[in-house]
Amino acid sequence: MTQQKCNSPNCNTIAEYRAPLSPNNLEEYQWFCLKHIKEYNKNWNYFENMSADEIEEFIENDIIGHRKTHKIGANRSNYFNKTNEIRENIFNSFNHVGIEEFSSNSFRIEYTNALAELNINDKNSTLEDIKSKFKDIVKQLHPDTVGYKEENIEKLKKVLESYKIIKNYNERFKPK
Ligand SMILES: [Zn+2]
Repeated sequence: MTQQKCNSPNCNTIAEYRAPLSPNNLEEYQWFCLKHIKEYNKNWNYFENMSADEIEEFIENDIIGHRKTHKIGANRSNYFNKTNEIRENIFNSFNHVGIEEFSSNSFRIEYTNALAELNINDKNSTLEDIKSKFKDIVKQLHPDTVGYKEENIEKLKKVLESYKIIKNYNERFKPK
């Protein structure tokens, strides 16, 4: 058997571990050293085949389920640089929306905060767009990807709550 070099850029270690080429190509392999196979496994998109609803349930049960949840809004996250800007833009654009629930200021603020938390700057985003954004963010914050950090769990909780607010609203009021 020929000795393979690790597939990670700039790594010259002999590769002894194989991994699929991509989630969509499980038949072909690439080779890594021990250090980089671990990295590869961490970044593997294990959410690929899960729906947003399944991910929602997964976070709730497996990551933050046992923790006390709190309402978002009181303690705003600065996680996304553009959050405040987005919030303002969306808030202003809601002024002429004729849906009754949006005439309630508190709901409008809650919804606006939720969109900003998911880094969504288009109030007309479809539920599909929102779900895919949600998946991306969850992947970025998941303990298996970034390690278990209290601050990431806090962000994850906010993201989940925000997602639920948006999803509930969209399922109830937005035309398909
Ligand atoms: Zn390597």
